[in-house]
Amino acid sequence: MQAREESLRRHFAQRPCKVCHHRQTPETLLVLVRRPRAWVVMAVCAHCQHRGIFLVSLPSPKRQHFTDTSPAVSTRDVVEMRSFLDTFDGDFLSLFGAGPHGRLAAD
Ligand SMILES: [Zn+2]
Repeated sequence: MQAREESLRRHFAQRPCKVCHHRQTPETLLVLVRRPRAWVVMAVCAHCQHRGIFLVSLPSPKRQHFTDTSPAVSTRDVVEMRSFLDTFDGDFLSLFGAGPHGRLAAD
């Protein structure tokens, strides 16, 4: 799981911010929702603080059973994320707590 997240961070680090065109840094990517076949991530530009939310589809795991018909992201997930984003002020430090050096702790 961590290798997948690192790969995703490297992918987003190759993309420039669509507002100020500065290159993103891997540390500015936050995984908001993890499901087996899709993640919801937020990329925050370190230069202009623009926030973009992305739904990332993941390849099906090789061991996936054919009886699994649950959607990657449910309606409930979308409703919960919408509710969260309606009230979220962008303050990640108070949301997750600062690490020992004032930076967000990696999971
Ligand atoms: Zn930017």
